[in-house]
Amino acid sequence: MLLVAIIGCRGSPTAAPPYAPGAGLPGISHVVAAGDTLTNLSARYGVSVEVIAAANRLRSHVLVPGAILNIPGGRVAPPPPVAAPAPPPQQPAASTAWFKPRSAWATARVITSLAKPMERPYRITVHHSGSRDDLNEPADRRLPKIERVHQAQQWACIGYHFILDGSGQVWEGRPLVWQGAHAHGDENNRGNIGVCVLGDYEVARVPPALSAALHQLLDRLCSEYSIDKSQVHGHRDLWSSTDCPGRFLSRDLRAWSGGLPAPASPLVQTRALER
Ligand SMILES: [Zn+2]
Repeated sequence: MLLVAIIGCRGSPTAAPPYAPGAGLPGISHVVAAGDTLTNLSARYGVSVEVIAAANRLRSHVLVPGAILNIPGGRVAPPPPVAAPAPPPQQPAASTAWFKPRSAWATARVITSLAKPMERPYRITVHHSGSRDDLNEPADRRLPKIERVHQAQQWACIGYHFILDGSGQVWEGRPLVWQGAHAHGDENNRGNIGVCVLGDYEVARVPPALSAALHQLLDRLCSEYSIDKSQVHGHRDLWSSTDCPGRFLSRDLRAWSGGLPAPASPLVQTRALER
């Protein structure tokens, strides 16, 4: 029962077809900080300005702090600053860390041979994990367990891109450079950001702080990727055989979207579930 609960909403692992220049290689997500430029990111990650610009379809070389860039093929970890002067104590740190990175919890590596590069996101699917047990321990200890279950199904890593814990803290799951595994099959996962809220919101109401955090996350992602609210769905709005993300979270999601009805074009009904 616990195993089933941990699995929660399933998606699909994917093959590894070709993609844009540099894609197909392990990549990383970079959250733009104040002062970042394409030139210094190119030097930092060893990926050309042109590849970064093309992979992110940038129309301008002006970077917006807080934006997420895909760095295809970016293997080089940011080097520690050399002889960097300490910032003045009165200067606040740039607040771009709106999620805790995968490195804060993951004990396993992304199996890149099973992953498919992510297309430009244009839709979001919201899930719950379906288990109250997921709230009984800190997320940095819970997420590795969920990932182990997902990888046992030959998925590249945890299927969701972002996970909210009970406090509303956002955690990076599958890096956005990789297509998710949460929406039933390759076609349904294309360009689809998977957001999962830990807990069971079929039986529990959504705490106000968690609701606010989810709304903030959705607003941020919609703004970042120019995603219309009509392209943000609860899992069960698209897939009638699941209760996910639960009646209370579904209600909360509808309130966020302004009461938009369920979409007219549901997910592709395929038998290639979880594969
Ligand atoms: Zn789901």
